[in-house]
Amino acid sequence: MAEFTMELNDEQREVRDWLHGFAADVIRPAAAEWDEREETPWPVIQEAAKVGIYSLDFYAQQYFDPTGLGIPMAMEELFWGDAGIALSIVGTGLAAVGVLANGTEEQIGTWIPQMYGDANDVKVAAFCSSEPDAGSDVASMRTRAVYDEAKDEWVLNGTKTWATNGGIANVHVVVAVVDAELGSKGHASFIVPPNTPGLSQGQKFKKHGIRASHTAEVVLENVRIPGSCLLGGKEKLDERLARARERAKAGGERVKNAAMATFEASRPAVGAMAVGTARAAYEVALDYAKTREQFGRPIIDNQGVAFQLADMRTSVDAARLLVWRASWMAINGRPFTAAEGSQSKLFASETAKKVTAQAIQILGGNGYTREYPVERMHRDAAIYTIFEGTSEIQRLVIARTLSGMPIR
Ligand SMILES: Cc1cc2nc3c(=O)[nH]c(=O)nc-3n(C[C@H](O)[C@H](O)[C@H](O)COP(=O)(O)OP(=O)(O)OC[C@H]3O[C@@H](n4cnc5c(N)ncnc54)[C@H](O)[C@@H]3O)c2cc1C
Repeated sequence: MAEFTMELNDEQREVRDWLHGFAADVIRPAAAEWDEREETPWPVIQEAAKVGIYSLDFYAQQYFDPTGLGIPMAMEELFWGDAGIALSIVGTGLAAVGVLANGTEEQIGTWIPQMYGDANDVKVAAFCSSEPDAGSDVASMRTRAVYDEAKDEWVLNGTKTWATNGGIANVHVVVAVVDAELGSKGHASFIVPPNTPGLSQGQKFKKHGIRASHTAEVVLENVRIPGSCLLGGKEKLDERLARARERAKAGGERVKNAAMATFEASRPAVGAMAVGTARAAYEVALDYAKTREQFGRPIIDNQGVAFQLADMRTSVDAARLLVWRASWMAINGRPFTAAEGSQSKLFASETAKKVTAQAIQILGGNGYTREYPVERMHRDAAIYTIFEGTSEIQRLVIARTLSGMPIR
């Protein structure tokens, strides 16, 4: 087990500087344009593919870094560049992790390369879990997967919503109900291969922020996929369902808690995205406060402004510490006995919302315009308190974990 450390090693520093260079030279200059266009920034993704940032290899290297700091460091730098573009770059990784975590070696080898394509023909992937009536309440999911034994095919029906890259993805990972009695333990994940009949994009959402990232409904109408597209395979699913049925009989709470633990592990990565956005806004505000003069002196000369900057930096650093602690715990198999994953996501996302609002205030009228990036950063920051579990759901998870009570 790697000791927890705040020091990046030489290799990590090199990767961080390389990512920072890409974020500063390629992502940041393109941010305003793609925010206005509200379209997937394909040329930027292609550029990221050419230099090796948009690839499974890169993502896996960071994911399996034994210090746990690879992913949070990478997320912070890319999202420092721009949240919408960065999500377009890492969105595929979220679907790929779903396959890495649950798929067989053959499924990993077959599908993950098709999620990324190659530098000359980049592709994206989507992870589709949320539904119109199943957001925070994942267990009320309705999309059904029914096994057609005669043909060894699964048939999917339902409507997914809020899917990042939904409908434009080459490969969709879809979570569906296979046993409605078991709540979220009766769900399974499926690969929907490219150009499968019956899968279509529904409405594309016009959003408040992260507008360079495509978000849409995905409609599944009698989507037939081969049996081999069930992640992990049928035998493993049948064993898992049998275990879940037994546990449910013995006491439902244990089933719920196991599912929560899985979600917890991915939350620090979202916290790291929020740290990137918050740090970016803080840096813009600090520079501005040092150069903008009113009453014959820089505005940072006023405690009212300087103290805000002091608070902003303190919150960003505190958020990073919580994210790094949780990331280190997750990779080293330390149990989240105080819901440390949720703590990190809750604090970092609320910090990003607050710090970006403070940055607008420090830039005054300029902060309120699209001439300066903090307005966009503030719109972008709002997503962190919503996706991968809202702030209220994080508080629920933390409070339940601390108290052991079924708090509602
Ligand atoms: C831009 C964007 C991208 C997304 N990308 C993806 C994706 O790629 N794949 C995917 O599957 N999903 C994705 N999501 C969905 C996201 O995870 C959900 O929006 C989120 O889980 C919240 O669900 P909801 O929107 O239905 O809100 P609801 O669950 O309806 O919540 C509404 C409000 O009620 C509160 N609330 C609900 N239940 C409780 C409770 N028990 N206690 C206290 N408060 C409660 C919530 O905190 C929130 O404030 C994305 C969403 C957005 C906006």
